[in-house]
Amino acid sequence: MTSTVITGIGELVTNDPAHQEAGGLLGTLERAAVVVEGSRVAWVGPAAEAPAADAQVDVGGRAVLPGFVDSHSHLVFGGDRAGEFAARMAGTPYAAGGIRTTVAATRAATDEQLLSGARRLVEEMLRQGTTTVEVKSGYGLTVRDEARSLAVARLLTEEATYLGAHVVPDGTTPEEYVALVTGPMLAAAVEHARWIDVFCERGAFDADQARTVLRAGAAAGLRGRLHANQLGPGPGVRLAAELGLVAVDHCTHLDDADVAALRDSGTVATLLPGVEFSTRQPYPDARRLLDAGVTVALASDCNPGSSFTSSMPFCVALAVREMGMTPAEAVRAATAGGARALDRDDVGVLVPGRRADLVVLDAPSHVHLAYRPGVPLVAGVWQRGRPVLGAV
Ligand SMILES: [Zn+2]
Repeated sequence: MTSTVITGIGELVTNDPAHQEAGGLLGTLERAAVVVEGSRVAWVGPAAEAPAADAQVDVGGRAVLPGFVDSHSHLVFGGDRAGEFAARMAGTPYAAGGIRTTVAATRAATDEQLLSGARRLVEEMLRQGTTTVEVKSGYGLTVRDEARSLAVARLLTEEATYLGAHVVPDGTTPEEYVALVTGPMLAAAVEHARWIDVFCERGAFDADQARTVLRAGAAAGLRGRLHANQLGPGPGVRLAAELGLVAVDHCTHLDDADVAALRDSGTVATLLPGVEFSTRQPYPDARRLLDAGVTVALASDCNPGSSFTSSMPFCVALAVREMGMTPAEAVRAATAGGARALDRDDVGVLVPGRRADLVVLDAPSHVHLAYRPGVPLVAGVWQRGRPVLGAV
């Protein structure tokens, strides 16, 4: 196994609790080095103490951080909804039913078209520093189309999520559709997916239906997550806490009981500020959640309807500017927070033994991700110990 020492790191974000006393929330080290061996991090510490390695790369004083972990995306779809976005910006309100437009285009697309579209977005994410991404189905809504959407997702990530319960398709009742989602569709999905998700929202699925879907998924070996409290107050966040789910996503409209339930359950609140940006809605209050002791993750929710951004740096900038997070809190939520939301301990950190997924910024510090919004700061990306993008 060959080893490489990466030196000249002006600021290294480790997210390692062992470095938090001196390095703050992100466990930062200055004038640092990282040794990569095979697909893993072998050593982290001051550059002056770095051990010898087979090869050396000098990043010239740049900042290095763990690759972003984007724990919520919908990349398998046909068509686009730019016209709907333009109409919304002209005053038409957002409603969950817009999903049906993408369902029709997805059903009409070939497997090859679905794969090439999703692959293009994963590559776009990689260029912006995302090295782990969760990908949902949910635009097929038939047994065949959900299964082939998940087969595509599974080719691109180990974090594939079955979201048959995205919206009730036309021509069926909610009762009939929940029976399909928990029956033949689940049976076809289970070989491809790690997770099961439900859009628990007015206009989509209520708490009883969400519970039924999540229970069926659990019985089939899938772990649960939820879309909840996006468009208004609702029971989804408390249901996620009650069921002990790893994460509940959106969390825009919360009351005090919701916040307390998240704190007590340890369920990660995944915030998706690209949605509020793209739907011109009020942002979730990350400050309130953090102050209450809730673990927060940031994700893109990349999808053609409500948030067609693939950029975690953009989400970090929004979280800092609009949601009361410090740059360090936002970067942590986009790395270690996303890993927590996927129940992964091998990514989102730069610690010996963990996966060597790292981002080199063309900047001296992580703060620049929010300080210089919209600027392409990712100068290099390493994934599983190999440079996959850029010269550094
Ligand atoms: Zn979503």
